[in-house]
Amino acid sequence: MARYHLKQAKPVLPADRRALEDRVRAILDDIATGGDDAVRRYAREFDRWTAPDFRVTPDQIRRVERALPETFKEDFAWCHARVTDFAKAQRDSIGEFETEVEPGIVLGQKLIPVARAGCYIPGGKYPLISAAIMSVATAKVAGVGHVIGAAPPRDADGIYPQTLYALHASGADEIYCIGGVQALASMAYGRVGMTPRDIITGPGNAFVAEAKRQLFGTVGIDLLAGPTEIMVIADETADPALVATDLLGQAEHGPDSPAWLVTTSRDFGEKVLAEIALQLETLPTAAVAGKAWEVFGEVIVVDSDEEAAAVSDEYAPEHLEVQTARDDWYLQRLTNYGSLFLGEQSTVAYGDKGVGTNHTLPTGRAGRYTGGLWVGKFIKTVTWQRLTDEASRRIAPIMGRICHEEGMLAHEKTADVRFARYAPKNV
Ligand code: NAD
Repeated sequence: MARYHLKQAKPVLPADRRALEDRVRAILDDIATGGDDAVRRYAREFDRWTAPDFRVTPDQIRRVERALPETFKEDFAWCHARVTDFAKAQRDSIGEFETEVEPGIVLGQKLIPVARAGCYIPGGKYPLISAAIMSVATAKVAGVGHVIGAAPPRDADGIYPQTLYALHASGADEIYCIGGVQALASMAYGRVGMTPRDIITGPGNAFVAEAKRQLFGTVGIDLLAGPTEIMVIADETADPALVATDLLGQAEHGPDSPAWLVTTSRDFGEKVLAEIALQLETLPTAAVAGKAWEVFGEVIVVDSDEEAAAVSDEYAPEHLEVQTARDDWYLQRLTNYGSLFLGEQSTVAYGDKGVGTNHTLPTGRAGRYTGGLWVGKFIKTVTWQRLTDEASRRIAPIMGRICHEEGMLAHEKTADVRFARYAPKNV
């Protein structure tokens, strides 16, 4: 099997990665020790937010509700319904149960929603209205008791009105106008009026993703959902112009967003390259998309569908579009991705804006070990057990011997005392 690059991405240097880690660590440490003052300092420095308060008031929400056009509210309601319908179907696919694995030994699984969640809604470059539904509505379907939503200020008036509406209408209990690392740190440590969260969720730029990574442990996280990625697997039956449009559609997110094409046809790869150059001439967001494509864009030509699938599984792309004569084969074969879009009729924008599947998805090869955000991320799967006297005595020698092998003699005793305690009484 063979592959070669018609176009290759520029490598990310380890020094760049370390600089990001150090920068984020310094901000988190500052907020952990410096409290609200440190948060205010960073909000001023990064987002020019100088208002004394971060929490959005009910009055501000009412004003936005009154001002927004009905068309937007209807579009929002459609997306909200699709995302919650899908989240409910996912919730119903997991369940509590108990099973008697041997006479007298009953084991069970229980589902307990997290009590306090913090949902970050990105808004530096574009106000990602849909992210409010993806995180907050999903948390609500999961049964999370208290949800904070946070988004950066769009301007001196605060959060972009449509995002604020979406946060409120999705069920956020408290909303804060705060962005980036300082938002995640405030939710984790409990700053600027927030009570500390049990889990923080949502996508964001490289600073946001790194902050979540470093805060994990202090607080739970959903997954690492950093700068967005797209891979398209296409053969000569696909439309090069459509594939180019979809690649640039994701590259528009930011200059650090990779877009990869894997194709079994060199001729098709060349056509897509030409189409991208053509479309960049008129694309309104070409400055960003063009930069992303120049630095991170790749076209990989392979000699078989199997090799295309192997490349895709190595990259573990966040979004994966498949436009080939064998889409069903790919559905069965592919194993590492965040969300899959089969056929040219579907596209990443549908999934990202609200067709129903969640758009908070694994990046940076996290698709090797996790899927995207879903109700299950807000629900703890805990277990319990109950034994009869007879079963406890029956298994005590087995358990005791294992403890003994491990040298855990106090553990062994916990089994031994039960063996003695539950000895038959009337013999
Ligand atoms: P953002 O809200 O993630 O980040 C904006 C914040 O970054 C600002 O509020 C600011 O506080 C902080 N910031 C900016 N420059 C900084 C600096 N030099 N040092 C420290 N902090 C700084 O919004 P964005 O920047 O537009 O990024 C959104 C990201 O979310 C994009 O990269 C997009 O691809 C990604 N995304 C990912 C997914 C996913 O599921 N993986 C989904 C949607 C969006």
